Amino acid sequence: MAPQLDPYFKKVDELSESFIDRLRKAVAIPSVSAEDERRPEVVRMGQFLADELKKLGAEVEQRPLGKQPHKEHLDLPPVVVARYGNDKNKRTILVYGHYDVQPAQIEDGWATKPFELTIDDKDRMFGRGSTDDKGPVLGWLNAIEAHQKAGIDFPVNLLCCFEGMEEYGSEGLDDFINAEAKKYFKDADAVCISDNYWLGTEKPCLTYGLRGCNYYSIEVSGPGQDLHSGVFGGTAQEPMTDLINVMSKLVDNQGKILIPGINEMVAPVTEEEKKLYGPIAYTMDNLYESLGSKTGIFDNKEQTLMARWRYPSLSLHGVEGAFSAPGAKTVIPAKVTGKFSIRTVPDMKPEAVTEAVYKYVKDEFAKLNSKNKLNVYLQHDGKWWVASPSHWNFSAAAKAVKQVFGTDPDYTREGGSIPVTLTFEEATGKNVLLLPMGSSTDGAHSINEKLDRRNYIEGTKLLGAYLHYVAEEKMT
Ligand SMILES: [Zn+2]
Repeated sequence: MAPQLDPYFKKVDELSESFIDRLRKAVAIPSVSAEDERRPEVVRMGQFLADELKKLGAEVEQRPLGKQPHKEHLDLPPVVVARYGNDKNKRTILVYGHYDVQPAQIEDGWATKPFELTIDDKDRMFGRGSTDDKGPVLGWLNAIEAHQKAGIDFPVNLLCCFEGMEEYGSEGLDDFINAEAKKYFKDADAVCISDNYWLGTEKPCLTYGLRGCNYYSIEVSGPGQDLHSGVFGGTAQEPMTDLINVMSKLVDNQGKILIPGINEMVAPVTEEEKKLYGPIAYTMDNLYESLGSKTGIFDNKEQTLMARWRYPSLSLHGVEGAFSAPGAKTVIPAKVTGKFSIRTVPDMKPEAVTEAVYKYVKDEFAKLNSKNKLNVYLQHDGKWWVASPSHWNFSAAAKAVKQVFGTDPDYTREGGSIPVTLTFEEATGKNVLLLPMGSSTDGAHSINEKLDRRNYIEGTKLLGAYLHYVAEEKMT
């Protein structure tokens, strides 16, 4: 039986102005994790969240994470953990979000003051952190408050994990999650993260996959110092020539990875998976708009989305040590380091990818018969993540979307990574759902970040409705 959600929805509408006010207060705290001098503001934001949760009757703790690596004079902001409800007969849902934000200055080109929530005549709420991730985090608090004020029993036990370093690589969080998986988080039956975006602006989505990323450097060196081409050109083997030769053999201009063995590691597309792509609200014009050009590789939606989500890609990023300023300097760089990365997907093993990369790069370099020195190394890797969209955690969220927005959700993946997703899955062993609140036009890390009023208020309804459906969904 479908849960009776009308009184809850009505209460969310009634309280919407006070929910917007809560967001206004949060945006006014410039909790920029990347700026040392603003660390006290990040701490103040964590305190604000803890206070709000306490007022709602949650048990709250602020857990210290110690000193910041490489910046030992700074304490990492605490993780705010909270428990709301402790009923053995209810399911327990663990939710994650972050209360720090990206840097923002009006001089960057903001049309409004970044730390002042400003609502325009289209009900767009501008402000740093509005959509990433203060709006979604407060959505969970709003859901609790609306239940209380409507006199409706809260359907689940809620565990919260809100961190303050997400925009700076989530320093210290992995260790914390691993340490608490069998302690503070031990009751969790499933995990929900609201920290990504709809594919477009109209249709909500549930996200079930993320690509991983292996990042490499190829270093070529020879001469003892930079040389002048007028003096040494034609007499020395040039590192840049070798590097460009090798880098040109990694990928072709249709996006095909040329390293043997890589494409063979990719899991084949299943019939069931194929069916998810047809209904997705996305057009080639959406791609062209975000590219700012019509330079897409494929001319249809399905291939484009698959290329972005479920196939690997290889991108060349840059060359350290190369002459890159304007003008016509006649330098021969003595040492150059090319950077490239591979976005990885199921079933690619990061170590196997690295092995294939090393072998291929060394083989291709050997073919050049160069007297220069080659060094290829991995800078970092992070594994892909994919969940089963037929798990009860997802089917509950799909019903909630249908109830609130009157449509079935799109099932999406993301081409990028949200590393904490995999950490939660591996540490707790539970299904993780990505349930976004904001839309594709929110501009999370750019100037004029915003969250539409509709996404915030209907999104609060969505989070609450999801908890009702998740409470009664059958095990799958
Ligand atoms: Zn975020």
